[in-house]
Amino acid sequence: MASSRSEGSSASSRRTSPSPIPYRVGPLEYQPAVACRCGSKAARWILWSPDNPGRRYFKCADARSGGCDFFAWVDGPTSSFLREVLNDLWDEVWKLRREKA
Ligand SMILES: [Zn+2]
Repeated sequence: MASSRSEGSSASSRRTSPSPIPYRVGPLEYQPAVACRCGSKAARWILWSPDNPGRRYFKCADARSGGCDFFAWVDGPTSSFLREVLNDLWDEVWKLRREKA
């Protein structure tokens, strides 16, 4: 079962494509606000790594320009079943987009 994705692309272990779906809510539009160590509202992003597909997390909004290293998960761990489903969907979305391009 774990081999189901190995026949896909070799890029499955390292993803460089952005989220396959548009964000429903902007990174700073969520409520209630969660503050990072700088005291600013932390940005909420969606991770699309093979281990954590579609899992949301908080990170300092200024992390790339001298902010803090604040990090916190929004969602709990993804079950192995959902992880497979989401990874398969992720692969399908990008496969179709590549074919369309
Ligand atoms: Zn910060």
